[in-house]
Amino acid sequence: MNPSLVEDTHALLLELRRLRSEGVREIYVEEKTLRALEEAFPTTVQANQPEGNVAIESESVRELATPGKRPEESKSVVRYAEPIQFAGSLPKPPVLELPEGTKTEQWNWLKEKVLNCETCASQLNPNAQVVFGTGNLDTDLFLCGEAPGAEEEKKGLPFVGPAGELLERIIEAMGMGMNREAVYLSNILNWRPRHGQAYGNRPPTPEEMNFCLPYLRSQIEIVRPRVLIALGKTATDGLLGHDPKRRLSDCRGNWFEFNGIPLMVTYHPSYLLHNPSKASKRKVWEDMLMVMEKLEMPISEKQRGFFL
Ligand code: URA
Ligand code: URA
Repeated sequence: MNPSLVEDTHALLLELRRLRSEGVREIYVEEKTLRALEEAFPTTVQANQPEGNVAIESESVRELATPGKRPEESKSVVRYAEPIQFAGSLPKPPVLELPEGTKTEQWNWLKEKVLNCETCASQLNPNAQVVFGTGNLDTDLFLCGEAPGAEEEKKGLPFVGPAGELLERIIEAMGMGMNREAVYLSNILNWRPRHGQAYGNRPPTPEEMNFCLPYLRSQIEIVRPRVLIALGKTATDGLLGHDPKRRLSDCRGNWFEFNGIPLMVTYHPSYLLHNPSKASKRKVWEDMLMVMEKLEMPISEKQRGFFL
């Protein structure tokens, strides 16, 4: 396949996944788009999409996902099927009781548990590593993402791929010497969810999330940040509990609470990479401004005006 088609398809898959995570179950696709997809994926489109989680139904006309718009002459609708479960059945989530000790001692204990977690290891791609959180244990700011991606599973560190680079730039824009070492970065999941494709990421299943959550909770308990940031829908569902009606666009920019810690919800940096409009960057930046206010950080006029 030519590289730009691979890239476009990847962007399309991410957008479809984002819509699905926002609760959209059907979208309208023009006949010519379907034909183009069929040409690009002659064997896969009809039955099961590349990710295995998009099925095409081409005869019935259905409501458009976008309210207020209806399909007119064209009759093709993409329906989301349930994601293929590569995880298999996972054991019960671990029960963790942090030992007495300093933050560093507790963190080392927990990291050891995660790196030796048999279930985590059993979920890894070939040659991949389990990814534990990293950063400053005395930080005020704890950022939580979804799951390791390709770069992360290779290096065994969170947020070291393209989304991580963008996240670093966002953190640095807060000023006051903020950078990735000054904050704490972690994920809902400790492994990269396996899927049948050479590229792209599969969002974690609820079972995978449940299994890993005790590891995340313990990290939050050790760091005791003043503010948590949930990056994207998966992190939000993980920290606030799954709610099929939750839409990220409604909850971002609002304060929630996790175990008494103020929690800001915002878009995931990979969402920004695929929706690089000034408007979406501004939304994330406004969420960061609220975080800076909560942390009583100085905010310059210039900072207030970013992406306006
Ligand atoms: N996306 C995430 O959610 N987490 C990472 O660590 C990398 C990319
Ligand atoms: N929807 C998501 O799931 N994540 C984002 O970051 C934005 C929208």
